[in-house]
Amino acid sequence: MKNNNHDDLIREAVIIREKAHAPYSRFRVGAALKGKSGKIFLGVNVESSSYGLSVCAERNAVAAAVANGEKSFEAIAVSSLGGVSPCGACRQVLWDVCGDIPVIMIDENGAVTRQMKMSELLPAAFEEKNLAHE
Ligand SMILES: [Zn+2]
Repeated sequence: MKNNNHDDLIREAVIIREKAHAPYSRFRVGAALKGKSGKIFLGVNVESSSYGLSVCAERNAVAAAVANGEKSFEAIAVSSLGGVSPCGACRQVLWDVCGDIPVIMIDENGAVTRQMKMSELLPAAFEEKNLAHE
């Protein structure tokens, strides 16, 4: 039986959030991205003393998946204090790499605050097909 309730993703996102490197904002985020292979790829936010170099948990999870050869995706769960939604940069990268997957936003304890599809989070997205070549 196919498990569509994403309990595994939620649990992994909450656990990995503890490993975030967020000494400046102290806003820790954990992300768990499930590929169609069934594998789960994890990411945390990693902040830099040169603030602009910081990378979000969602994009680090995408990088881990891509580096491991995953090509298609089921869903992503993102755990943060209060269960916030992904930033604009992450929405763009998630759309480009993962497509129209569900995004499950959860608080620090794993309670779902919101679930939306990527097409709802990033309507009228810029995407690969917009890249005309001169
Ligand atoms: Zn982000």
